[in-house]
Amino acid sequence: MNFSLKRMLYVLALLLLLGAAVILLRTMMFNSPPEKVGSPLVVKDSLSYSIERFQGALRIPTVSNNVYDSTDFYSFERFGVYLSQVYPMLGKQLDSFRVNKYGLVYRWKGKDPSLKPYLFTAHYDVVPVQEATRHLWTHAPFGAEIADGKIYSRGTLDDKCSVISLLEAVKMHVDSGFVPKRDIYLAFGHDEECGGRNGALQIAQYFKSKEIEFEAVFDEGGVVTVKGTGGIDADLALVGIAEKGNANVSVKVKKAGGHSSMPASVTALGAASQIITNLESNQFEPRIIPPVKNMLSNVCHTMGFAAKMAVANSEIFEPVLLKVLTEKPSTNAMVRTTTAMTMISGSSAPNVLPQEVVFVGNFRVLPGESVEDVITHVKKAAEGFDAEVTLLQGNEPSAISPSNTRSIELLKANIEKYYPNALMTPYLTMASTDSRHYYIVSDNVYRFMPAQLTEKEQALMHGIDEYISIDNFKRMIFFYKDFMEMLD
Ligand SMILES: [Zn+2]
Repeated sequence: MNFSLKRMLYVLALLLLLGAAVILLRTMMFNSPPEKVGSPLVVKDSLSYSIERFQGALRIPTVSNNVYDSTDFYSFERFGVYLSQVYPMLGKQLDSFRVNKYGLVYRWKGKDPSLKPYLFTAHYDVVPVQEATRHLWTHAPFGAEIADGKIYSRGTLDDKCSVISLLEAVKMHVDSGFVPKRDIYLAFGHDEECGGRNGALQIAQYFKSKEIEFEAVFDEGGVVTVKGTGGIDADLALVGIAEKGNANVSVKVKKAGGHSSMPASVTALGAASQIITNLESNQFEPRIIPPVKNMLSNVCHTMGFAAKMAVANSEIFEPVLLKVLTEKPSTNAMVRTTTAMTMISGSSAPNVLPQEVVFVGNFRVLPGESVEDVITHVKKAAEGFDAEVTLLQGNEPSAISPSNTRSIELLKANIEKYYPNALMTPYLTMASTDSRHYYIVSDNVYRFMPAQLTEKEQALMHGIDEYISIDNFKRMIFFYKDFMEMLD
């Protein structure tokens, strides 16, 4: 080996070593917040009247209907009347409004009308109980029975616990004569489960028409998880600062029909399958968007050295990080617009060629991409086929709320009080919530329900035997009570 080559290798080795040292140093210096200790605050009061009022609200079957005009509006009317009966403050100490008949809005006047108000929002519609699964419920779905420290009913978690705990918190304050600094509005939508276009959207437009802008909006869409959830070795208090969009796209593929004894080499069903294969094998590009980066930075130290190193040096390791994150469905959904093929129909008999095949894909759109991008993507996959691409329903991903506001700072402080064991982090909400409609009246929209749920409990939303523990319900009431007092 000649001298200059040897020297070059030597310099290269030195550079590599230096690079490794920098990576290591950055990893070690990367913020590792002190380990969280303690356990969730337990409310000692029995709050038996609050629980009774909650049960009454759960027993009214305010079931959302995708065909809005077929909604059982009688139940919704009853619900509004019920609230004004059990909370006489509504219409007295709080102004009460109706938007689009069933959207319930209340204004609790604060001391300083010159300041922007706060809005707490929730929804009181629930998803139906599937007839086929009704017999699997061990408690009546709208019975609000109490057993083993839990209240069972559709809507306990999603989302009447929010509606009632917010009202209970306000009630305690009103009873004690407390007046908040700023106006606090409560807004309860009645069709969140079907997109919120008749409830939250109209309420938001109502605020906009009155030129009411909010300092911050608080809604459901994040919870406190339990250590171990998603492989993360810590309890997390997840605050959604953005949410994904949604697009249902249908593709109609046409071919000559006829008898199946003399088929063309590719039938409409075969062509549709090829388009589906194109879509599944050419997924949207993965990207790490700010709320996800934020979350990774906050939790990576609980995921072992390799994860911490990758996040601390994300400029170098982003491709590796994305590869790991896209491997699991739960983390894949955090970093890309997802593609899910959900419906297909062909011919109605085994020996009949379909003249047209229609399939539907459900795409969850990552902030930064749009419903239009999804259409373009699907059209590209269908290129060369006689196919018609139609958008059935779409809503854009939300804007990203800042994670450094005064409101989020106060939220964090209150989370520390109620969940001293939980690491608070901003994140991206995967599901749709009513809160996306409120960006027209506030930049600061935060999604957090102050209840700690196991993975199993999280799956109960929309599921069988939905329940909330009484501990969680009571904690929610006091969490909101304190939070309303902290808001300045
Ligand atoms: Zn909900």
